[in-house]
Amino acid sequence: MQRTLLLVDDETAILNALKRVLRRTGYQILSAESGVKALEVLQDNPDIQVVLTDYRMPGMTGGELLVEVKERFPHVMGLILSGYADFGAVTNALNSGAVHKFLIKPWNESEILDALSSSFSQSSLRMQSSEVLFGVDHLLSRGELIDQLNQWMESDIRSTALYLDVVNFKSFNDSLGYEEGDQLLAVIMEQLMLSKPNGSFLGRMNGDEFALIMPFSGSEEEIQGLIKSLLYPFDDLINIAERELHVSFNVGYGISNVDGNTSELLLRNTQVAANYFKRLEGIGFHRYQPVMNNISKEKMVLRSDLYRALERNQFSVVYQPKVCMSTGHIVGAECLLRWKHHSLGVISPAIFISLAESSRLIEPIGEWVLSKACYQSQIWKKEGLPPFLMSVNLSGRQLMSNTLPEKIKNIIEITGISPDQLQLEITETYLMQNIDNSLQLFNEIKALGVSLAIDDFGTGYSSLSYLNRLPVDSLKIDRSFIIGLPKSNEKKCLVKNIIQMSHDLDMSVVAEGVETQAQLDTLRHLKCDEIQGYFYSPPVSAEEFRILLENQPLIGKNYLYSGMSI
Ligand code: C2E
Ligand code: CA
Ligand code: CA
Repeated sequence: MQRTLLLVDDETAILNALKRVLRRTGYQILSAESGVKALEVLQDNPDIQVVLTDYRMPGMTGGELLVEVKERFPHVMGLILSGYADFGAVTNALNSGAVHKFLIKPWNESEILDALSSSFSQSSLRMQSSEVLFGVDHLLSRGELIDQLNQWMESDIRSTALYLDVVNFKSFNDSLGYEEGDQLLAVIMEQLMLSKPNGSFLGRMNGDEFALIMPFSGSEEEIQGLIKSLLYPFDDLINIAERELHVSFNVGYGISNVDGNTSELLLRNTQVAANYFKRLEGIGFHRYQPVMNNISKEKMVLRSDLYRALERNQFSVVYQPKVCMSTGHIVGAECLLRWKHHSLGVISPAIFISLAESSRLIEPIGEWVLSKACYQSQIWKKEGLPPFLMSVNLSGRQLMSNTLPEKIKNIIEITGISPDQLQLEITETYLMQNIDNSLQLFNEIKALGVSLAIDDFGTGYSSLSYLNRLPVDSLKIDRSFIIGLPKSNEKKCLVKNIIQMSHDLDMSVVAEGVETQAQLDTLRHLKCDEIQGYFYSPPVSAEEFRILLENQPLIGKNYLYSGMSI
């Protein structure tokens, strides 16, 4: 394989000077003028083994770029070439292991050549070790998949390509550790090899992404049926390191000539389709559509803008009341984050929270939300408004940090909020995957006097008795269960059981996303404790929430507030 290097600098003159230095090395050299562009080039060129980047660049810095590269392209070695003055700023990236070497401008030619040669050797070693581990005799490389697809396309054999991306693999890796993470990948590959259709080929694209190509095609239903049977064995939990894990996939697919007239384009487009819904709507199978290409680029830009959003004061929070079913009084508020982008306007947390999680920005952002909520709660308390529990969402990424309890404690002390007025919401999906690690952390958080709620309950397929081991005070039933009320008997039965079991375990129950009187009546009948949803109020600004506090008990479908910002 030819040694391929990516140079990143916003100054073309420097890119050209570097290319001159490297002229005689025989490396294939690609270049990019920004971090965002560099990520695109990496995505399109899996042969790149080394990235040499400037530090100071508009948008994303070289350090931020390499942290991202380490996460998404683990075999690629990152080098920074910058002025000595930037050394301090690069420390973070150096400490995180994302930067292999720091080279100083003005550069010394032989130093650069040595550093590059050692980086290429390191990268090859990394690739070899993962090949040994995963037994690549079975799996095809990207190049081999493309060759095979080419052969079919040249012989006019209509073929189908699937791109499979393991949902949230990073969180498995973070909680299990890399070794067990690799074991999990090996089990996933083995299972895919067993269930793939006859005549098809499976390849590993990068990290936790796979592609499957088949020398036939069918109707939309037939292809979807095929994907379902391929993934059917993953309905069962996978046992790794005494844990039971539920693995799911985002799948993009396309058909030769229709969704890409070269094999490379077809594979690339199926990848775009798999990624498209990854951040937007969760798990699913999606056929490629040209419009998806634009959105993916937009997301890249969004991610780099997110780095600046905190300092640019683009974040704000809104509050949504949780209302007591029997009295109509506000017993809690959920604090929800909003991002007002300078050109795109308000962006939904459903999109940007996962972007913030994948770049670790969620940690400072999450702390900011927590302080904001605690300060606001204190302001209302000092104004003599009726007390209630303030809830803040914690992301899985924040829960991975050992210093979280310390950070919560500091925020409680600085803001002066009474800990029994603070609740933290943690999603069921996170708990399911991390129950063993969570126990100690939760006990530490509980010891601060703060209460805990399980969020989005019902989406993670865990049983309540499983979660019973955790010191949790309250449970929030996911909106997807409430939507079906009162018509769906199945949903009604499920909700009834969840409420009964929660009460047996001394947990209070909140129904999320209640929008109609009929849903409210059903939930009242089923003895649900609290209601959160548009029926009473959408999330509103602090000023608007104050008006709600002053006008209790709340009257459902209170259109007085229907003009409020959501
Ligand atoms: P979540 O924690 O489940 O929050 C409830 C979401 O449901 C909110 O969406 C809220 O606006 C919406 N909602 C409430 N009542 C209704 C209703 O009656 N009908 C409908 N259709 N929707 C309703 P939002 O604000 O867009 O937030 C989406 C998700 O983003 C949140 O889901 C949460 O997972 C995440 N999020 C928001 N703020 C934060 C934050 O500060 N930190 C973290 N880690 N995640 C956050
Ligand atoms: Ca929540
Ligand atoms: Ca929720």
